[in-house]
Amino acid sequence: MAIQTRKSLGAEVTTAVVPAGVLGDAFGRVARDLRVSLTDRCNLRCSYCMPAEGLDWLPTDDVLTDAEIVRLIDVAVTHLGVRKVRFTGGEPLLRRGLAGIIAGAAGLRTDEGVAPELSLTTNGVGLDRRIGELAAAGLDRVNISLDSLDRQRYAALARRDRLPDVLRGLAAAAAAGLRPVKVNTVVMRGVNEADVVPLLEFCLRHGYRLRFIEQMPLGPKHGWDRAAMVPAAEILTLLGEHFEFTPAGQRGSAPAEEWLVAPADCHPSGRVGVIASVTAPFCGACDRTRLTADGQLRTCLFAHTETDLRGPLRAGASDTDLAELWRGAHLAKAAGHGIGTAGFHQPARTMSSIGG
Ligand code: SAM
Ligand code: SF4
Repeated sequence: MAIQTRKSLGAEVTTAVVPAGVLGDAFGRVARDLRVSLTDRCNLRCSYCMPAEGLDWLPTDDVLTDAEIVRLIDVAVTHLGVRKVRFTGGEPLLRRGLAGIIAGAAGLRTDEGVAPELSLTTNGVGLDRRIGELAAAGLDRVNISLDSLDRQRYAALARRDRLPDVLRGLAAAAAAGLRPVKVNTVVMRGVNEADVVPLLEFCLRHGYRLRFIEQMPLGPKHGWDRAAMVPAAEILTLLGEHFEFTPAGQRGSAPAEEWLVAPADCHPSGRVGVIASVTAPFCGACDRTRLTADGQLRTCLFAHTETDLRGPLRAGASDTDLAELWRGAHLAKAAGHGIGTAGFHQPARTMSSIGG
């Protein structure tokens, strides 16, 4: 994307010239990666994400139908240069039509003439029973959330005793050939730091790619405390006491900084990632655009504004109209999330309602 500098009232003004057919913004970034939330509901209640009693779920009529979701993905892929689609939530496996939505997306062609890369972020509960149909529909990869290998700690953290189900889901994803199977772990002080080392050994032994995530202020209101968040530097120090690792190199627009782990007696070599969204934000390289389950477009997890696509879609807007709305919204994408700055405040929606 071209960046132009011109003089205006004596001052130099830099603007990005966004070509047609892509989702560009004023900072020269182009969004190629669409995160689609398929539902705001969930069968777990991870403490950093949802209150024990759940949330006020979206009314059914507000949630996009399967056909509406595929139509909006089509607009993004065919008209706006999106090349990757990740299905998330809430828990996307709760969506009955998931395989059909995946099949619909797999039938699309990107500006490079290939099917978009399709992935799923899931808590893994019930994945073993669904993975066959999802892979057959065109799913390429899965990310499975797992915050502890200790059954009691997992049950306390997720407020549901489902660790065995998650482990079955992981094994089934690997057996279905959806490799690399990625594992996401949010690290919380005084809660699951003791899991950091066992989780990495476990993932290396099974060939899963583990990524530790800094807790973000996107859960239950007032539930985030910077002091309780375990920063990436601390996670790396902890890992350094047990593993030998070296930087894996450039990460491009990927959120995780990756490390190559040397083999040892109890595990083979492998990789580990750390997603330092709070202490080392990667907003400058962000290539994401987001669609909520009720058809609201968000340019950032932390955005305070949304653009309604469901209303125009249901009122008969053409693909071109929808693409223009989407492009216009992206031009106003903020430079960064601003966590830690004086003006920062948590968005009204939580992670599970936006789609993590
Ligand atoms: N239910 C699915 C799952 O748990 O993978 C998909 C949705 S969940 C919101 C997506 C990811 O966001 C999970 O890996 C979860 O651990 C992460 N997440 C949720 N709340 C978070 C928070 N406050 N900070 C950091 N990550 C969070
Ligand atoms: Fe559900 Fe995922 Fe949130 Fe846990 S992190 S409560 S599994 S949406």
